[in-house]
Amino acid sequence: MEAAVARGRLEQMLAELEESARVLQRGGGDSGELTSIDQHPADSGTNLADADREEASIEILHAQQERVQEALARVDAGTYGRCVDCGSELPDERLEARPEAARCVNCQQRAEAVR
Ligand SMILES: [Zn+2]
Repeated sequence: MEAAVARGRLEQMLAELEESARVLQRGGGDSGELTSIDQHPADSGTNLADADREEASIEILHAQQERVQEALARVDAGTYGRCVDCGSELPDERLEARPEAARCVNCQQRAEAVR
């Protein structure tokens, strides 16, 4: 993939992730949410689950933002499109599906197995 194309896509992704994070952190504009948990401990199950999900989503968004920023750094460094572990070129279809991908499929599987 062309570096300029990759950069454009990554910057677009970053903008969308930032917007999603803003929306999530606003909590959909419902400012009374925390208060209702305190006032109705018996009903707190769903509310807490929602809060947990929200927190998890923000964490996922931040992790994704980091990956996209790292990918942009690789575009700058001229190493974009190469696996950060083994240095082999990533196939275009992988970069089409996941422009922020840092590893080839093999190394990604190995990295995830370690975790
Ligand atoms: Zn690799």
